Amino acid sequence: DLLNRIDKNLIKEAKVLLSDSTKISIIPHSGPDGDAIGSSLALYQYLKKKGKQAQIISPSAYPVFLKWLPENSDVWIYTNGKKKAEEYLNSSDLIFIVDHNSFKRSGDLETVLEKATAKKIMIDHHPEPEPIVDLMFSDVKMCSTCEMMYEFIEALGDENLIDDRISECIYTGIITDTGGLSYNSSQPRTYQIVGSLIANGIDKSKIHSNVYDNFSPDRMKLLGHCLDQGMEVLSDYQAAIIKLTKEDLVRFNYKDGDTEGFVNYPLSIQGMKMSVIFIEKDDVVKISFRSKGNVPINSVAREYFNGGGHMNAAGGRTDLKLDEAINLFKKVLPDFHKTLEEK
Ligand code: 5GP
Ligand code: MN
Repeated sequence: DLLNRIDKNLIKEAKVLLSDSTKISIIPHSGPDGDAIGSSLALYQYLKKKGKQAQIISPSAYPVFLKWLPENSDVWIYTNGKKKAEEYLNSSDLIFIVDHNSFKRSGDLETVLEKATAKKIMIDHHPEPEPIVDLMFSDVKMCSTCEMMYEFIEALGDENLIDDRISECIYTGIITDTGGLSYNSSQPRTYQIVGSLIANGIDKSKIHSNVYDNFSPDRMKLLGHCLDQGMEVLSDYQAAIIKLTKEDLVRFNYKDGDTEGFVNYPLSIQGMKMSVIFIEKDDVVKISFRSKGNVPINSVAREYFNGGGHMNAAGGRTDLKLDEAINLFKKVLPDFHKTLEEK
């Protein structure tokens, strides 16, 4: 279980697609996280080393705690320049769909990608991939798309091109998708890869500090407020709910990414198996779900909140009002909790 996990036949096909292409687009998911941006930047630097013309086009903006990553300044944000991005995409020979597996997760790029005629390769670790690409690398056993990107480059025979800067990007996605290697990261191979990244010269503590020790005073106060005023513990169901209203966000000068990770805190309460955060945005309530162990919280996200994700980390959104959304969750919680006991 320490060997490369990429399908060797698919890699042969990837080699052909890569050698047939000169202009390549890389698309992370909308509202990109550390894994989406880290894997995109790793792939971007690798392709440039291979002599390709490459461009990352992010469907939307992402938080400042990812902006220290190597080559970050080369990323285009689609919503900041749609025409330029569409021209690049429509003249690309190859498009990588990274860290997502449905155009619904490509945000405003959804219809552009649906119409794009270039060959497409998916590199992703989410369940239930849609048949939207010519070549699909999809593996839910990977802790992150970044881990998979390491495997992908190694399987192409180019492990020696993974330098310290590419390694920093890969390590960032591995830690942001596993809560700093706390959950979803029990395969020995992950640590072999991490070992290689360290051997490549990454500064582990610098990366952790850049990713996690980045709170503004307002963000820290927003966290305190939301745990103090906005938390409800439903001990009978081993669940906690936290919420943030529009007014809370204004009061603490909310910036993109400020609520990242908040949903994890209630899982530190003894006995909790589920935590959900409801965030009231302008025209939609965004929801993040986290669970522990064999609790498929993604089914709740999928069935009731127009979302999905992994078993222990999922997301969704709803047009319901904040309180209505919370009430809906409370209404379905007893039955969901019962299905857990029956297991
Ligand atoms: P987060 O709570 O950090 O936004 O998302 C947690 C996980 O759920 C991520 O892996 C993300 O890709 C996935 N996720 C978030 N929102 C959605 C959604 O609307 N649909 C699907 N299928 N997955 C989502
Ligand atoms: Mn991911």
